[in-house]
Amino acid sequence: MQMRGCTGGKVDKIEIMSAALALSPEVLAKYQPVIGLEVHVQLLTRSKAFCGCRNEYGGEPNTHVCPVCLGLPGALPVLNKQAVEFAVLAAKAIGCEIRETSVFSRKNYFYPDSPKGYQISQFDKPIAEHGVLHVPAFGAGGEAITKAIGITRLHMEEDAGKSLHDGFADSGTRTYIDLNRCGTPLVEIVSEPDLRTPDEAFEYLTKLKEILLYTGVSDCNMEEGSLRCDANVSVMLKSDWEARGAAAFGTKAEVKNVNSFRYIRAALEYEIERQIGVIEDGGRVVQESRLWNNAEGRTFSMRSKEQAHDYRYFPEPDLPPLVVGAAWQEQILAAMPELPEARRARLMEQYGLSAQDAATLTTDRGLGDRFEVAARAAKSARRVAAILLSEITMRLRAAGIAFEQSPVTLDGVVLAADLAEAGEISSKQLKQLLDTCFAEGRDFAFVYDRDKPQQISDTAAIEAMIDEVIAANPGQVAQFKGGKRTVAAFFVGQVMRLSKGQANPALLNELVVKKLDA
Ligand code: ADP
Ligand code: MG
Ligand code: ZN
Repeated sequence: MQMRGCTGGKVDKIEIMSAALALSPEVLAKYQPVIGLEVHVQLLTRSKAFCGCRNEYGGEPNTHVCPVCLGLPGALPVLNKQAVEFAVLAAKAIGCEIRETSVFSRKNYFYPDSPKGYQISQFDKPIAEHGVLHVPAFGAGGEAITKAIGITRLHMEEDAGKSLHDGFADSGTRTYIDLNRCGTPLVEIVSEPDLRTPDEAFEYLTKLKEILLYTGVSDCNMEEGSLRCDANVSVMLKSDWEARGAAAFGTKAEVKNVNSFRYIRAALEYEIERQIGVIEDGGRVVQESRLWNNAEGRTFSMRSKEQAHDYRYFPEPDLPPLVVGAAWQEQILAAMPELPEARRARLMEQYGLSAQDAATLTTDRGLGDRFEVAARAAKSARRVAAILLSEITMRLRAAGIAFEQSPVTLDGVVLAADLAEAGEISSKQLKQLLDTCFAEGRDFAFVYDRDKPQQISDTAAIEAMIDEVIAANPGQVAQFKGGKRTVAAFFVGQVMRLSKGQANPALLNELVVKKLDA
């Protein structure tokens, strides 16, 4: 089955295939999928959650460790203040309420890369609850809508270390343990089972990541595991759903640790079909954890799922309850930036941008910041948006570089936008100048001064060319005279070609209309 997304109304170019099952669309349509996501996010604190070790990706194995994160007997945890502040900031950004007094609990289980034998987490009294995320989706009639997806909770916990398998574990080679990541601070964000399609899950994750990146609490780098998602999914007969209501969810399976949003979408798509297949064959879906195999496009059973009571949660005796009072909350919230949705609305309002441009400019906080700096300096904000989003972005992509490495600086963008806006350079000349900038690695001002396009601003010369074009195209002249005034653009284009792109565009526009009206 093919996967498609609808981020910002655009269809994804890359399509990831999940292994096709032989279920007909009629059979699939009988079932209602239900999806809930658990997202782990690593916080960008300087030190770990409960000790002073460096919180840094990579490093020589087992060099960022101490008695606390090694779980040595008698070592005591001390909570990282910055981790609390980041958790509160993230929680507020997704509309959660902060619990003034939250409690850390021990979640007991054995993992070779978790030396304490338990994870410090939060259980019945998490730091935040009851949030919401607004996600683009499709209504029953296929119309674009915004869906509110509930966020059950955001809680704090610590990460485990890493097991590195040398070769294949079942062929007798070695497993190494690296505890550098052990004890680094995480927040886990748990959604309500409000998502109904793999596309909605994809959109939810995209929004969540966008917001978290704005707050700066995490780099959300999925390759490095800073953002990881477990996807829970069940299916039920629509007829049952309608008869019994939302309480009657089917048994869910959980797909663990898939490391890209597209794979999550593909894994969900596969898993929905697998579960429907099981039920159609008269079987029952079992509650279990499954792994996604990207090469094969399927999920595989990993283990039967633990129940909460298997973990023997109890309040962490080495940490007092965490109190985040009103005054501290207020202090933390002073660092809250304007979030993408609000910024989108403001960009449209303040600069007259289209919804599409505002959406593209706000997906990345840095891009939005650059736009605003340039827009304030330039004569036309819309012209800046157009140049940044098409000409510059296109050339950066082709060169495989980020804006930080762009030969054309923000000042260059402003100059280019002002010249284009004033009609002193045509769009063709703009493109040529930018090509030169990128080819030579020089900023716009330098190239413009040196290669300043020869522009024809001589009225008589332009009029002569217009006359020539008019004489050669009597049909279009008749159309114009007949009331189709948009045909003027045709004449502008023809004269531009005749002048090899050198006619002053503002002057040309004016003269073409004057001549045609004459
Ligand atoms: P567990 O204890 O198994 O982790 P939780 O109740 O904590 O289960 O829920 C984990 C995630 O699974 C949440 O995001 C929740 O929305 C989702 N979820 C719960 N029940 C279902 C279901 N029947 N189908 C799909 N998702 C579900
Ligand atoms: Mg859970
Ligand atoms: Zn440590």
